[in-house]
Parts: sequence; structure tokens; C-alpha cells
Amino acid sequence: MHGISEAEWLAYVDGGLAAAGRARIQAHLRGCADCRRMAGELSMSHSILVEQAGRLVRELEISPAHAARIVSAAMTRIQNAGRGGFGVEEWVGELRSALTPICGSAMADISMRRAAYEAAQSTVDALTETDWEDFVSHLSSHVASLCGRAAGSLIARTGAQIGMETTA
Ligand SMILES: [Zn+2]
Repeated sequence: MHGISEAEWLAYVDGGLAAAGRARIQAHLRGCADCRRMAGELSMSHSILVEQAGRLVRELEISPAHAARIVSAAMTRIQNAGRGGFGVEEWVGELRSALTPICGSAMADISMRRAAYEAAQSTVDALTETDWEDFVSHLSSHVASLCGRAAGSLIARTGAQIGMETTA
């Protein structure tokens, strides 16, 4: 909205935007009532999500056996598809399906968009193989802080396995 991307707004309300981007948004907000209202609503729904995720973290434990099953199910699907049959879109899909039952779909979605943005892509759909390692690293650290360390390491592990499979 108004020359500021959705990913930038998300990073802004999350406090994750670098100083230059933050200053640009703040300057825009001073002159734009529409964006002030939108940023206020976004920030409110963001804190509700973070609070819900915090509650999930407290209630949820992922056993190592459960994590191993999730990783191996993703790898089986990728190996069965064969090289070339599985692209970045499907890798993202595998991470999303590992993440959603743990963090909820809204939190999975926000974490993925933030990580894509930090891997220097405007959207998750724009990610390429070259961005993968960077994307996984940002994603796993967001997931660890929002949904718990077990979920973060599950994502790091699944993402690394997928990356290894494609460079093997
Ligand atoms: Zn505006």
C-alpha cells in the first residue's frame, strides 16, 4: 500500500525492519491517515497472533520421534518425485505443512513471508534455489521465537534436508 510492500508492513509491526526502512515508513505515516489506521489494525492483529503462538509454545511439545517422522515424510515425498519433479514451490509447501499444525496457518504464513523478505525476495513465490539456505535460516529463527525452539529446529532440519537432496 502506497509504495510500501506487505512484507515491509509486516516487518515494521514486528520490529524487524532496518532503520532506513523504518524511517521511510514513519515519515509516510505522519502524512497518511489511511496507512496510520491500517498499521494500527495490523499491529493489533500481530500482537494477538504472537500471544496465541506464545500460548501454543507453552502447551505444545514436539517429541524427537514426532519430528523425525515429519522430516522423513517430507523427504520421502521429495525423493519419490525425483530430481526436477520438485521445485522450490513444493519445498515451501513441505515446510508449510510441517509448520501449520504446530504454529497455526496464520503464523506459518507470516513467518514465511517475513523470511522470504529477509532472503531478499518480495514474496514467498519469488524464492529460488539460491535463496533456499537463507530463507530456511530466517524462517527457523522466526519460528523458534514465535512457536518454540522445537518447532524452529524442526524447520531448520527439514529445510537443510531438502537443500541437501537438491545439491546431492
Ligand atoms: Zn499511505
